[in-house]
Amino acid sequence: MTDAPQTPITQDVMTIPRKQPGGKPNIVGLTREALRQALIDMGTPEKQARMRVNQVWQWIYHWGVRDFSQMTNLARDYRGKLTETFRIDLPEMVSKQVSADGTRKYLMRIAGGHEVETVYIPEADRGTLCISSQVGCTLTCSFCHTGTQRLVRNLSADEIVGQIMVARDDLGEWPVPGAPKREERLLSNIVLMGMGEPLYNFDNVRDAMKIAMDGEGISLSRRRITLSTSGVVPEIARCAEEIGCLLAVSFHATTDEVRDRLVPINKRWNIETLLTALRDYPRLSNSERITFEYVMLKDVNDSDADARRLVKLISGIPAKINLIPFNEWPGAPYERSDWSRIESFADIVHKAGYASPIRTPRGEDIMAACGQLKSATERERKSRARIAAEIAAESGLQ
Ligand code: SF4
Repeated sequence: MTDAPQTPITQDVMTIPRKQPGGKPNIVGLTREALRQALIDMGTPEKQARMRVNQVWQWIYHWGVRDFSQMTNLARDYRGKLTETFRIDLPEMVSKQVSADGTRKYLMRIAGGHEVETVYIPEADRGTLCISSQVGCTLTCSFCHTGTQRLVRNLSADEIVGQIMVARDDLGEWPVPGAPKREERLLSNIVLMGMGEPLYNFDNVRDAMKIAMDGEGISLSRRRITLSTSGVVPEIARCAEEIGCLLAVSFHATTDEVRDRLVPINKRWNIETLLTALRDYPRLSNSERITFEYVMLKDVNDSDADARRLVKLISGIPAKINLIPFNEWPGAPYERSDWSRIESFADIVHKAGYASPIRTPRGEDIMAACGQLKSATERERKSRARIAAEIAAESGLQ
């Protein structure tokens, strides 16, 4: 632990109330338990509540139905009651850009007129959706475009799972009654690597992922969901205990001096503290390795000495190292490492016994690549200079 300024673990940002004044609450985003209670409050006899939860759940999350009147195995009166009591609301897709490589970047509008980005990345053996957990971010990682956008608020559970549902709409992936079941899924994996630090919005992320994993709905295996954190140490174990998904860490540096600059949360939980938490990670095993994300920045963190330090630091942790060639964005203060440098780095890591894939940049032509997300219409922007000044001030360099 360092003497750096203390920031609260739970950020002081509001999640919008589920029920807006005078409005109906959104039924999307309620966990099974919360839905059961809401149906009982609506007048459903307790004895029937479980069955009704199953029915409504399957309509919304298995069939993708958006209108209570289409829930045909429920009595007409009951459908009417549901319509009077709830709404079925998803984020609104404002725009969609499709990259030459097939990557799709969606801009989605949520309550309050805020916008978040969600990216779909098709690959030969999978389709991954990168979803956002906050509007903006507090953490100002200096290589990340999102970090230049001030934090506006946390997303609610319906806004998080809603990104998956809207993407399934766009991909045409809801099953069609009577049609043969499709074996391959277009959207097969989720990564919480979009805008925001998911562990600063833990409860909503957990509830949304529980909905996404539920076998009677979207039904994604927990091992196909990866939560990426910058290193919010006190919340890391909860990720295994309460969600059970895989974990990725934005590591990016092998000394505290460099990581303080790249991932400023390191000033609160330094490399040693972070690695201790990862060694203690409850689900750690060879089949559930931790992914270390490592962005390759020219002359900053990409030397052979860095590669050797990295493998020494993580020794004993079942891990995979994802090397990410830096994706440039307007005003970015870094350059991508040369390809030969990245390969040399990967080689050292690989020879030490770790998988070290070099991530192919995807969707660069539409600014959808890793670290490039930022709402295009977002108003309050920080300049690079302002961020640099803030980081310098926090480091006591001014
Ligand atoms: S890398 Fe993640 S945690 Fe860091 S500023 Fe970007 S969105 Fe926030």
